[in-house]
Parts: sequence; C-alpha cells; structure tokens
Amino acid sequence: MIVDLHTHSRCSDGSLTPRELLERAKARDVSLMSITDHDTIAAYEEVKAADYPEMTLVPGTELSCTWSGVNIHMLGLGLDLNNQQLVEQLQQQSHARAERADIIARRLEKLGFTGIYEGVKEMAAGRAIGRPDFARQMVKLGYVPSMNVAFDKYLGAGKPGDVKAVWPDLADAVAWIVAAGGVAVIAHPSHYKMTNAKLRRLLVDFKACGGEGIEVCNGKPPAVELNYLKSLCVEYGFEASMGSDFHSPSTWLDVGCRSELLGDCPVVWSRWC
Ligand code: AMP
Ligand code: MN
Ligand code: MN
Ligand code: MN
Repeated sequence: MIVDLHTHSRCSDGSLTPRELLERAKARDVSLMSITDHDTIAAYEEVKAADYPEMTLVPGTELSCTWSGVNIHMLGLGLDLNNQQLVEQLQQQSHARAERADIIARRLEKLGFTGIYEGVKEMAAGRAIGRPDFARQMVKLGYVPSMNVAFDKYLGAGKPGDVKAVWPDLADAVAWIVAAGGVAVIAHPSHYKMTNAKLRRLLVDFKACGGEGIEVCNGKPPAVELNYLKSLCVEYGFEASMGSDFHSPSTWLDVGCRSELLGDCPVVWSRWC
C-alpha cells in the first residue's frame, strides 16, 4: 500500500496547489493521503475528498508547538475540520506566525540583512509566513549562497531566526487535536537533535497528555533510524505513521511511501482503512 500522511501544499510552504498535490498523489498510486500544512487546514477549502474516490483523504495539519525549549512539530490527523476550538486555535497560530515573522525580520535586520521583509511579504502573498520565505529571500538578495546555509547560520535551531516563544505548549497542541477527534503524532522525532534520553522524556510526556502516534518514517530514513523509531513505538505503545514531508517536485523526495517499511508495527491508519 502507498501511504502519505505528511505533505505540504501552497497553503503553507509547499509549491503545489492542494489540487495539484492530490493529482500527483493519485498519479503515484497513493491510496491513503493527508495534506498537513504548517498550522493551517486551508487546503481543505480547495479540495474535497469526494473528488478523489481512489484514495482515502485524511484531514490533517502540522502544528508548531514547544516542549522543554524545543520547537516540536505535531501532526494532527483525522481532524474534524469544523471543530470550533481547532479553527480558533489555528487562527491564533496564524497570528503567532505573523508576530514571529516581525521578530525574525528585526533580528535579521540587526545582523545587517536589510531589505528582506518586503520581499518575504510579497512572496507569501497573504498566506502565513515561514522561515523558508526568509531563507529564499536571503538567497535572492545574495546574502547567502543557498537555503541550507540560511538555515544553518541564521534560521535553524538555536540561531537568531529560531523564535520559539510564540508557539503553544505541546500539551495544548495535543489537546486541540484530540478535542477535534484527531490523532496526535510527533512528526520526524529524529529532527530535533535531542539526546536519546531527552527524546524518551518527550515520549513519556506526550503519551501522558494524550498523544498516540509517532512518525516512524519521514521521507527516506536510514535503516538504523527506522528500526530505532519502530522499537520506540513498540516500547512505549505508540502507533506508527509515515509520510514523505513533500514540499515541491524540485526536491528529491516525491509523494508516497511504501507501508511495508513499517513491518508489523501497529499503524495510526487502521482506524481509517
Ligand atoms: P517554520 O514552519 O517557519 O518554522 O519553518 C520550518 C520549515 O522550514 C520546515 O518545515 C521546512 O520546510 C523548512 N526547512 C527546514 N530546514 C530547512 C533547510 N535546511 N533548507 C530548506 N528548508 C528548510
Ligand atoms: Mn515545511
Ligand atoms: Mn516539520
Ligand atoms: Mn512537514
């Protein structure tokens, strides 16, 4: 089975419209799919599950939150898109993004990178601003040679553009997802540069506040990472999720993952298929 429970559209930092993204998934035989834009469910205003009978479309989002000083990404899958609290909290997330963008712009300005914000706002054209917009503009203005360098030096974890204060606590993010009938899944657990001990503390706290899943497979992880996350899944009694984290056709990772990679791990999608 080909599954993808983690993808981005133009409603956040992806390059395809929601419709183009689903057409691409369809062409690649994806039968279980979620569009999980950062802090928004706007994609689901543009596409309807009924138009894609060949796949199960699971409403989702990827929430930004914090736990113990770390910016964690929390997937909410199987959401009731009309849940009032969720809708209101996503509006709050959008305000938080705007506020964060102002702070990032000021910090970069202080470092001597002037004239960035105008281009960033123009590029975003009304949707929420993310760090990739700043990175792209820094490349465009010749301040850095690539987006990678922009993240490594100025925007990534622990750098001046990494503004965490605006995000809600992990427990709140989990609560909103659960109240909207969804399943909370920790996205890409190995991206947070945590020690194993800290990751285990995160899993314990996450479980205690109602979290049920971890993203065992994000993109194409090396076998050691995949096996480690599978073992954590079993040890802590979580269900496994998987997704490409697709953002655009120009990056090497395309839509769709093979479910066989998860072996006999219990999976989050048993409730939808
Ligand atoms: P934000 O949602 O504004 O916190 O920005 C985080 C997003 O930046 C991630 O979801 C990725 O899409 C993107 N990102 C992270 N690291 C890099 C990188 N090194 N190069 C390009 N994009 C990145
Ligand atoms: Mn992204
Ligand atoms: Mn993420
Ligand atoms: Mn993502």
